[in-house]
Amino acid sequence: MAAATESVAAAPEVRQTQMLIGDEWRDSVSGKTFETLNPATEEVLANVAEGDAADIDLAVKAARRAFEDGEWSRMDARDRSACMNRLADLIEADLEELAALETLDNGKPISDSRAADLPLTIDCLRYYAGWADKIHGDTIPVRGDFFTYTRREPTGVVGQIIPWNFPLLMVAWKWGPALAAGCTIVMKPAEETPLTCLRMGELALEAGIPPGVINIVPGYGPTAGSALVKHPDVDKIAFTGEHRTGQIIMAEAAETLKRITFELGGKSPNVVFADADLDAAISGSEFGLFFNQGQCCCAGSRLFVEETVHDEFVERVVARAKERKLGNPLDNGTTQGPQISAEQRDRIMGFIDRGNSQGATCLTGGNTYGDKGYYIEPTVFSDVTDDMDIATDEIFGPVMNILKFKDIDEVVERANNTYFGLAAAVWTRDIGKAHQIAHSVRAGTVWVNCYDVFDAGAPFGGFKMSGIGRELGAAGLDNYTELKTVTMSMG
Ligand code: NAD
Ligand code: MN
Repeated sequence: MAAATESVAAAPEVRQTQMLIGDEWRDSVSGKTFETLNPATEEVLANVAEGDAADIDLAVKAARRAFEDGEWSRMDARDRSACMNRLADLIEADLEELAALETLDNGKPISDSRAADLPLTIDCLRYYAGWADKIHGDTIPVRGDFFTYTRREPTGVVGQIIPWNFPLLMVAWKWGPALAAGCTIVMKPAEETPLTCLRMGELALEAGIPPGVINIVPGYGPTAGSALVKHPDVDKIAFTGEHRTGQIIMAEAAETLKRITFELGGKSPNVVFADADLDAAISGSEFGLFFNQGQCCCAGSRLFVEETVHDEFVERVVARAKERKLGNPLDNGTTQGPQISAEQRDRIMGFIDRGNSQGATCLTGGNTYGDKGYYIEPTVFSDVTDDMDIATDEIFGPVMNILKFKDIDEVVERANNTYFGLAAAVWTRDIGKAHQIAHSVRAGTVWVNCYDVFDAGAPFGGFKMSGIGRELGAAGLDNYTELKTVTMSMG
């Protein structure tokens, strides 16, 4: 009995359900709330304040006031850094509770929340805390008797709209560079997963980040999200989500010519050559697709396997897929949780149906799982051809699609035959082939003999319709500064 109890993490209490504006936690102006569900049980976890245009306006005013005050934007950069490090320390001290809250709201296995989401969140904030006092311009030799230098000033009030697949980590990716640069923030978390973001708001205030620097307005995209995009006093929008939403946001941001950065979807090629270390390629490919229930923008969802090892690879990867442990995500032993929502589950099941009807072979899975929760069995298709829906569209679920190839030129061409360009991977022992793939695949990140290796210092983002701009690393900071040139007469 004791062992069984210990293997299941305690479900934390949901404490914060209001929106954060300035230093105030409050209900929405309309008084409306929306439900956030536990995707493993379909039960309501909490009713959360539902913001729309009126709340966004209050939040933008608070962020503008805080920005103009200069308490944050002109704070000594090293003190800004100290606040950010305190926030990271508070998250670390709260790791167990935040991990469990993330698992409750999102459905991801607690072992993933603990080992990936939380440590990466903490690391990202510490990484950008380190940048705060290292953001500087240049002195530039110009003709004549002038002294010219540049400054990097904070962009101002930034609107940040994030998805539900990595709720906490997306907060860190967005807040880290914005805070380091001295911007103030209005964040709209995803309607599916607002809870850890609200908890982060509490911790930010506790860390000494001045009120108004971070404002959080939960709500829906077409209402709260769109109001943020259109607000004339917001200087920039950073968005992560579906490329179609990106298209709407880009059009709506045009009115006020906002700066935009986007991290959108993908259909990332994962290329396995016959000369690869097959053990590593099989476990890496399984991880690269099934991690986070397949709900990763960079999922290796077009798995190209060289003809001569194809059959062996398929047999072994199917065996791996069958070993995945579906169950209560708060249980330490669970490796696959539910999908985020009934809507996503149904969307994914639609892809599985079309995979079958368009002639792919379903080797394992293909069904929903259990009688409650939005679970889908780990699913593997072989005999996938480039034109099938499962090979062209982002599925965002536990559906592996295996395509066969003959040689490197063919696979490069097929890998690039997509409007996406987020990530790619190659498995080979031949360094020539590895570099050839790395240089010829049009994608923002290429992994060689590994998958999903993220680091706060390594830029991430998309070519083509997978995005605009880069997050993480020094490149991620550029999104949050304006470059100013100062020229002074020396005469
Ligand atoms: P989405 O793009 O609709 O939602 C992402 C965020 O944008 C949410 O906070 C949402 O409220 C907001 N939003 C939605 N419409 C908006 C609008 N008109 N104006 C401003 N903000 C708006 O994505 P989704 O519906 O949650 O997921 C649908 C699909 O998107 C998935 O199946 C997957 O293919 C893809 N997706 C990609 C990522 C990624 O990391 N690239 C993340 C989540 C989803
Ligand atoms: Mn949507």
